[in-house]
Amino acid sequence: MNLRAVKGMNDFLPADARQARRVEEAFRRTMERAGFGEVRTPIVEGTGLFVRTIGEGTDVVDKEMYTFLRHEESLTLRPEGTAGAARAYLEHKVHTTEPVTKWFYAGPMFRAERPQRGRYRQFHQVGAEIYGDLGPACDAELISLIVDFLADLRIADAVVHVNSLGGPEARLRYREALVAYLTPHAEKLTPESQRRLLTNPLRILDSKAKADQELIADAPRISDILDGDDAAHFQGLVKYLAALGVDVVHDPLLVRGLDYYGRTLFEVKAAKDILGAGATVVGGGRYDTMVSDLGGPATPAIGFAAGLERLVLALGDSNATDANLPVYICALGEAAIAPCLGLGRDLRRAGITCEVDARGLSLKGQLRRANARAARLALVIGEGELERGVVQIKDMSAHEHLDVPADSIIASVVERLAQRQS
Ligand code: ATP
Ligand code: MG
Repeated sequence: MNLRAVKGMNDFLPADARQARRVEEAFRRTMERAGFGEVRTPIVEGTGLFVRTIGEGTDVVDKEMYTFLRHEESLTLRPEGTAGAARAYLEHKVHTTEPVTKWFYAGPMFRAERPQRGRYRQFHQVGAEIYGDLGPACDAELISLIVDFLADLRIADAVVHVNSLGGPEARLRYREALVAYLTPHAEKLTPESQRRLLTNPLRILDSKAKADQELIADAPRISDILDGDDAAHFQGLVKYLAALGVDVVHDPLLVRGLDYYGRTLFEVKAAKDILGAGATVVGGGRYDTMVSDLGGPATPAIGFAAGLERLVLALGDSNATDANLPVYICALGEAAIAPCLGLGRDLRRAGITCEVDARGLSLKGQLRRANARAARLALVIGEGELERGVVQIKDMSAHEHLDVPADSIIASVVERLAQRQS
């Protein structure tokens, strides 16, 4: 029997979980302050939802989905959050009750990729979607929220890359221009890109292979093809980003792996030396046709998702929150166990985090553990303390100790913790 976790799927022990929660809480703060509400959708959806939205010919749909049959229905563990959110938006007819909808989410996603640093088979995303706002101001504000979120986490060196894919027509024209340019050189492309030339030519721009890169360098740029409303939208985005003081790099070769994008497209990359190949921490863009493609009314939409594990890596060790514990309670001898358990309960009721050590170890052994937990105070109750009706308080860093009457111990601990904080 194999008792190991599934390859590419990670346990979060408390130290990891603390980091993950820090990211999620910063995200929630940022989004709620901007009027977004949380949406929670199921982890499993009908397979067709992802095939229709993400699209055939994409890596996610062709190779990365966890799909299985149950009760003759094909189900898939969600590889991303946008499709499920759009499904919920439609299913609950949210567009009939509000003209603009702002949602955020956080949770696990599943992709059968080759595991490596920052790339897992179960990973977590925090993300957001806005339905019903067509304008570039909306795009600029969303990007600025991401920048604030990363600043809140003190992730430095994050660079925002933006591009515009234009609407469906511009994208089709660009696709033709790209195919016309690449086809005469097709034999110089990698086999993967040759295949993409037929299935999903825009994805060739994303190739990291040297042979492909050389050809891509002289490929037509989508920015040269954009016109009319598409061009105006991109100019608007650039204008509002500048007004918000958000620095971005225009990357005319930026394309993203999912089919549903059009017009605004963006990625945030963090320091490569920490993250290696997975330096992209955030990806997002407009998907103005998805809701109508799913059978709903024409509804412009934009969203993004950030990889939680990659954000945690980008936090680095310097930001690790310590596991500091205010109070460690040491019970010396059987008679002290019940009073110590009661003291722990009373402290918690007073809002103070504490642990009780009732293992029956020597004081030395218990204080060693208090040190390892970085406790600020140790409270000791033994036979002597019980006889005198006191609790001994040890200040772990000042190496002082004193006896406090048992009936005023809570107040005394509260006071000492407050002093030490100022
Ligand atoms: P990549 O180019 O790194 O494969 P992607 O384009 O597939 O990323 P998206 O689908 O846009 O990524 O997902 C948004 C973010 O989710 C990524 O920028 C990344 O931070 C994170 N992410 C995506 N796939 C994984 C994975 N397998 N493991 C960990 N994080 C991931
Ligand atoms: Mg990917």
